Amino acid sequence: MRSIQLSVSNKCLRNCKGCYNFFANTDNFIDCHNVITFIKQLQQDIKLNKVTVTGGDPLYREDLPKLLEELKAINIKINLDTTGLRLLDEDYDASFIKKYVDVLGIPLDGGSDSVIKTFRQSLDKPIETTLQILHKLEGQGINVCINTMVHKFNLSEMVSIAKLISGFNNIVKWQLFQYMPIGPGDHAIKQQMYITEEEFFVAVNEVKQQLSTLNKDIKIEAKTSQSRRDKYIFISPMGIVWCPDKQDDDKRIMVGDIKNSADYHNILNFIQS
Ligand code: SF4
Repeated sequence: MRSIQLSVSNKCLRNCKGCYNFFANTDNFIDCHNVITFIKQLQQDIKLNKVTVTGGDPLYREDLPKLLEELKAINIKINLDTTGLRLLDEDYDASFIKKYVDVLGIPLDGGSDSVIKTFRQSLDKPIETTLQILHKLEGQGINVCINTMVHKFNLSEMVSIAKLISGFNNIVKWQLFQYMPIGPGDHAIKQQMYITEEEFFVAVNEVKQQLSTLNKDIKIEAKTSQSRRDKYIFISPMGIVWCPDKQDDDKRIMVGDIKNSADYHNILNFIQS
């Protein structure tokens, strides 16, 4: 069965060169009711018990607490991937995260600002900012997963990242993703960032060795681009279900619209494929 990536917001401030999202910065989202109706139906038909809530950045969606509360009320385990930047706004009430989110994913792709900026461009001091976010989450007792996109420019930075995160006691998981050259991004950039599966697993093994040296018990999940092509399905902020086209990295296969009940069986079959 495919893993459901529920994208609930079109907005994101990180401006990553390798972003796979086909989105524009708008506030035009599918409403909670449609999402919950669809997820309930899946839960009934395939015993769905977990979704990854993603974006853009989901924290820019104002009714996110309500959506998460409703997902939790139907016993769905929630992983939420965010840049975390909104958590640094003094007046942002993040108390809903501890209540409803099982694991919060935060990106960290390098041990130096210059390397991080080869992929994620918008912050002046990405390491300092990320560490501030992680401290804040640690203070609130929120379980964190570090998400690292492994690409050509940060291949040799895994040990540095391990050292950066080793002092936190709330990091329960570290997901490493082999860079996947999909989405509307520039072809030249996609080629520059590309790494082979072999290179990816060398980096993963370095991570495992370093964590063992540091005596740090963090669950490692290594996800190749091929495994994600076959195992992920994306729901866009407007409710369109899609997955990457295996033949053409620039394109996606449109599976259906969760607002349209006539599309449901097609979507269900695809999720089970
Ligand atoms: S943080 Fe994620 S959603 Fe935002 S620009 Fe980067 S890849 Fe895209």
